[in-house]
Amino acid sequence: MIIVMQLGATEAQVEAVSSLIRERGFEPLVLPGEGRVAIGIPAALDPDQRVSMEAALGTLEGVSKVTQTTSPYKLASLEFHRAKTTVSVGEVRIGPDHFVVFGGPCSVESYEQFRSAADTVKAAGATVLRGGAFKPRTSPYSFQGLQLEGLKIIQTVAQETGLKTVSEVMSADMVPIVAEHVDILQIGARSMQNFPLLVEAGRSGKPVFLKRGPSATIDEFLLAAEYVLSQGNPNVILCERGVLPIDRSYTRNTLDLAAVPVLKEHTHLPVVVDPSHGTGVAKYVHPMTLAALAAGADGAMVEMHPDPKNAMSDGSQALTVEQFAALMAEVKRLAGVFGRES
Ligand code: PEP
Ligand code: MN
Repeated sequence: MIIVMQLGATEAQVEAVSSLIRERGFEPLVLPGEGRVAIGIPAALDPDQRVSMEAALGTLEGVSKVTQTTSPYKLASLEFHRAKTTVSVGEVRIGPDHFVVFGGPCSVESYEQFRSAADTVKAAGATVLRGGAFKPRTSPYSFQGLQLEGLKIIQTVAQETGLKTVSEVMSADMVPIVAEHVDILQIGARSMQNFPLLVEAGRSGKPVFLKRGPSATIDEFLLAAEYVLSQGNPNVILCERGVLPIDRSYTRNTLDLAAVPVLKEHTHLPVVVDPSHGTGVAKYVHPMTLAALAAGADGAMVEMHPDPKNAMSDGSQALTVEQFAALMAEVKRLAGVFGRES
């Protein structure tokens, strides 16, 4: 529900609306606008509450109209938060003015492998280093990641290179330990609706990189973000990483690039594209990263590996050192055309 105040409504009138909302057990969200203030109730009201609230608010002085919001998510919605969000991680800004590349291997395999990847990522001009320590694998017999040892390697390499880091956390109980070692918590596609995990990541206060589930609708994706936001954590980065394909003969997933402008229309949160999992094929990563930039994304997550043929996971979609450098050069050349710094 949004209460739009009359032009020139006084602070006391705005406060009267806010107190009535509080009396009913909700937290008002005051949204200053150009000349006109709006007050949101970022919660789902049941029909009885809605009718009685509408009647009570409608009689207050200074109220112009009371409207129902259409989106099931409130805190993630542009209706409630008109300015686009920029998530800051140290000096790195993830938001509407930048195009941030999150580069690195699928998995952390050893100190040497990860340090070498980090050197390539840094030399090419990317600012965030990715690498999985806990790996969600379809088969329990596949490499599961170096786990705690992997986290320690990430932390060491971050200290040595100054790069910011992102790594996946797979369960709620592991949030504190992962949060201690990395700058950004990644919630993987398979975990998008692990609600206790979303809540715990929200409580950690760390930036959360939330991947879209392979069969999740846009509303489900934004409601997952809402779980994190509702814990008082505003630092959520959305990531489109491809949805279930109708044809796996050529690509691993179908990269839903249309989700970028759709999300931009409905949420203030930054949107990043992962063309690596989105296609599953290294040679398609370069064109799809540039397409993501053109579609209005705020960044790309790109897997690279010092030796893709011998990678312990996702080698077929990993860029080589040369390919990664060439992609970054192209991103830097084109970012300005789309009004972004890179
Ligand atoms: C990953 O980033 O390595 C990963 C497992 O991604 P997703 O959750 O999108 O499959
Ligand atoms: Mn991967």
